Amino acid sequence: MASENMNYDCIVIGFGGVGSAALWEAAKKGWKVLGIDRFGPAHTQGSSHGQTRIIRRAYFEHPSYVPLTHRAFDLWEELNKRHRTSPSIKELITQVGLLQIGSSDSEVIRGIQKSADIHGLSIETFTPEEIQRRLPIFKIPENHIGLFEPDAAFLRVELCVAAMINQAVKQGAEIVSDTAVTEWQVDDSGQCSVETEAGTFTGKRLIIVAGSWANSLLPKLDLGLKVLQKQQHWFQLDRVDHKLVNDFPCFLLEQDNGDCFYGFPEIDYLGMKVCEHSGGKLIRDPAEIDRSLNQEELARTEQFMKQHFHFGRSRLVHHSTCMYTVSPDGHFFVDQHPSFENVAFAAGLSGHGFKFAPVLGKHLVDLLEGTCEPEFKFLKIAERL
Ligand SMILES: Cc1cc2nc3c(=O)[nH]c(=O)nc-3n(C[C@H](O)[C@H](O)[C@H](O)COP(=O)(O)OP(=O)(O)OC[C@H]3O[C@@H](n4cnc5c(N)ncnc54)[C@H](O)[C@@H]3O)c2cc1C
Repeated sequence: MASENMNYDCIVIGFGGVGSAALWEAAKKGWKVLGIDRFGPAHTQGSSHGQTRIIRRAYFEHPSYVPLTHRAFDLWEELNKRHRTSPSIKELITQVGLLQIGSSDSEVIRGIQKSADIHGLSIETFTPEEIQRRLPIFKIPENHIGLFEPDAAFLRVELCVAAMINQAVKQGAEIVSDTAVTEWQVDDSGQCSVETEAGTFTGKRLIIVAGSWANSLLPKLDLGLKVLQKQQHWFQLDRVDHKLVNDFPCFLLEQDNGDCFYGFPEIDYLGMKVCEHSGGKLIRDPAEIDRSLNQEELARTEQFMKQHFHFGRSRLVHHSTCMYTVSPDGHFFVDQHPSFENVAFAAGLSGHGFKFAPVLGKHLVDLLEGTCEPEFKFLKIAERL
């Protein structure tokens, strides 16, 4: 329970993927810290749910992310050690490898090769025949190749968020759930005040990580963020070789028309998760999102599976709606607020931010202390807009 109106050292608005990491980092510093979220801890209404997220190093989106991926792997391992206090507790991170497939001139394949060359990453190249021999479920076009990153992994997304909140609370953080922030301001003396349905909270510093609600909490920044609705699907297949117990990797395939689909081994017998990374329905207000099954998105994913998988039958067993908050160039904004040096924010994580949550959480706290390591400069507003 938060101590209302107390003057906190730092208030974190939104403790989803990145906010929970910032909360933990601020609490580790010994700051008196408060997290406020419009939903409960580790919920299913934002962008950090749906069982799994991929973490990888050979970053096709831009080579500048690669050094941050190295830090991310280390920080997830550190969290995993703190979280797994007994062998019966599930791992947060599981190394299964990632196979990325496309023609040699596709954006994904060219991007991976560029990042691997610049940063000396070890990637194995497979022909379509080699892919089919190792992973017989796949049907791969003749003109495609596969690039395999052996130490890529999946993160159990809700468990990761819950573990970060848990660590933050153990270090003294206070949290207020199911409470939306309606407004925030900074007065002339630098005091931050945060208005909520449950009253006003004040603090010396503010971190804002509101995911798909970022536009409403950072209206003056005009970041040009768009929210896309995405559907995650879990399928039961009539074969067993795609299951985690058979060392099946995560995969991503870019088709010749640029459409991109990805999936995971079947974990915990929920079914094999297969989703589309491209596309998505533009939405105006995350509060009004329709979470019922979108048949069109399901049909696109089933069509992809028919084209690229060998199986006799598949059955949808579960679906979940999620959101990408996409910036104009597809890269994150993580910066100090241009008008207030004691306010930092992360926004526009563009459908690839979860793997970096602990790295960005730490960076947000560093920004509030006036530090921006050179590796993060490409994420600043001034470098982009
Ligand atoms: C289907 C899907 C697949 C993805 N796959 C991957 C992947 O494989 N690898 C990867 O790295 N990334 C992936 N991503 C992207 C990644 O999950 C997101 O970039 C990341 O989780 C976003 O974290 P966030 O903290 O910005 O948002 P969120 O986790 O949504 O957190 C924002 C929080 O702010 C709260 N909030 C909003 N407004 C208010 C308010 N006014 N007052 C109080 N609280 C508020 C919300 O309730 C929420 O808890 C995927 C995303 C989706 C949707």
